[in-house]
Amino acid sequence: MAQFDLVVIGAGPGGYVAAIRAAQLGEKVAIIEKEKQLGGTCLRVGCIPSKALLESSHLYEMANEGLKERGISISKVQLELSTMMGHKQGVVDSLARGIDGLMKKNKIERFAGHGQLLGTGKVSVKSKSDETIIEADHILLATGSVPSSLPGIEIDGEFVGSSTDALKYDEVPKQLIVIGGGVIGLELGAVWRRLGSQVTVLEYLDRILPGLDSEIAKEALKTFRKQGIKFELGAKVTGVKTNRKTVDVIVEGKEPIRCDKVLMAVGRRPNISSLGLEQAGVEVDKRGFVQVNDKYQTNSKGVYAIGDLIGGAMLAHKAEEEGIACVEGLYSGYGHVNYQAIPGVVYTDPEIATVGKTEEELKEEGVEYNKGLFPYMANGRAQASGHLEGKVKILAHAKTDRVLGVHIIGAQAGELIAECVAAIEFGASSEDIARTCHAHPTLSETVKEAALAVQKRTIHM
Ligand code: FAD
Ligand code: NAD
Repeated sequence: MAQFDLVVIGAGPGGYVAAIRAAQLGEKVAIIEKEKQLGGTCLRVGCIPSKALLESSHLYEMANEGLKERGISISKVQLELSTMMGHKQGVVDSLARGIDGLMKKNKIERFAGHGQLLGTGKVSVKSKSDETIIEADHILLATGSVPSSLPGIEIDGEFVGSSTDALKYDEVPKQLIVIGGGVIGLELGAVWRRLGSQVTVLEYLDRILPGLDSEIAKEALKTFRKQGIKFELGAKVTGVKTNRKTVDVIVEGKEPIRCDKVLMAVGRRPNISSLGLEQAGVEVDKRGFVQVNDKYQTNSKGVYAIGDLIGGAMLAHKAEEEGIACVEGLYSGYGHVNYQAIPGVVYTDPEIATVGKTEEELKEEGVEYNKGLFPYMANGRAQASGHLEGKVKILAHAKTDRVLGVHIIGAQAGELIAECVAAIEFGASSEDIARTCHAHPTLSETVKEAALAVQKRTIHM
């Protein structure tokens, strides 16, 4: 029977990164993945394919409309959806091959099949043709998450699809209804709107992007409405009725809404199917998230868990940080994740990026803070590149000036946030950011000016 120091079940960003780090620390590591390609949700049907389509659909929209005002007119813009999808798949395949190479380089043994806990130190790997049992001192569960649906609504993949389906429609739906105004709904809603769909987002709450700073979320809603997405807030979807070629979505207290496709984007649930948690006595909460302590240890000896499977922010980089912290804790004695310094980015246009506390959280916690705001409009580079929408908001402690939260809506927000994450990680004050020289003309000057605004001394406002 094969024997390892660490066996990782699930090769998403949490699992494969943890495997590499453990191998770097000198451990004998195996990884089990049930899909053909490594990389998990993120690479196969998440972060990467969605960003490829966001970029391509943005170029299409620019070619159609956005370039005219700069004096560039293109007479015949055509959409070749299959080529766009081919480019997306090419990116995924190339990156997946890269992960295969990383596994080989780090001498991580790969097992193809479904992993299941068999009790202390033992895991079974079942493929279509056979079953292998492997043994390990430590087992790391990194099986991620799968799309959720609503009670009574089945994701059939044809009329009602998840994000995985919406990443591969073979034609542009005329009418697309998105259930859920969260990150997936807005990113994939943006893709299909740009490619020609009439998109309606039905959101149960009275706002979009729950959890995000509400001032920024309100601005985002206004902008997305202007771009042509319809939003129905406070919409309680109670069912769907499929016809021959269309679907009627039933919303409490309203007329049914007809469309060609429904994208179900109401969140994701932990992937614990046939993982052997019960046999191994691993504790989960009511929603199925595996329970761990601050070392990512479950209540079952030698079994650890990270990433989407344990809940919290469902983000690839959060899964990676947890994977690294878990194996560093095991094999070098110390590992830590600073959950206050985990950025979140929504890759719409404009982008939205956030780190640390929101204004609502600070109010709720009774923390006194100062706030600095700076609009993109007043930034030279934003003017030159036509990215006038957006703002940077910095929240700093009223007494110590320590940066507690930064929230950005605007072009390249996902890149600008990196500086703010570093600031929070290093315990910087807003004055530290304000006194740091930022290149001119760059969008990053909006961050410096927002930091100056905390002390009410912006230069360009
Ligand atoms: P996963 O990536 O889900 O990987 C788990 C792996 O385990 C999978 O490969 C699965 O096949 C395998 N597995 C499951 N059970 C078993 C088993 N029993 N045996 C063997 N293998 C098993 N996050 C971001 O940070 N940025 C983004 O831009 C972003 N965009 C997204 C877009 C979409 C459309 C979606 C759906 C998600 C997106 N996410 C994004 C979220 C991100 O994909 C997840 O947070 C991340 O993939 C979680 O990593 P993980 O390693 O915990 O799990
Ligand atoms: P989400 O939690 O971001 O949003 C779900 C939305 O659905 C919420 O606004 C919620 O209020 C709404 N909702 C719930 N029940 C509803 C109902 N009955 N009717 C109407 N609306 C309802 O979830 P998601 O958008 O499905 O994304 C899943 C996960 O994937 C998220 O945790 C996200 O972090 C991750 N993800 C991240 C990125 C990124 O980082 N850019 C991109 C895509 C997905």
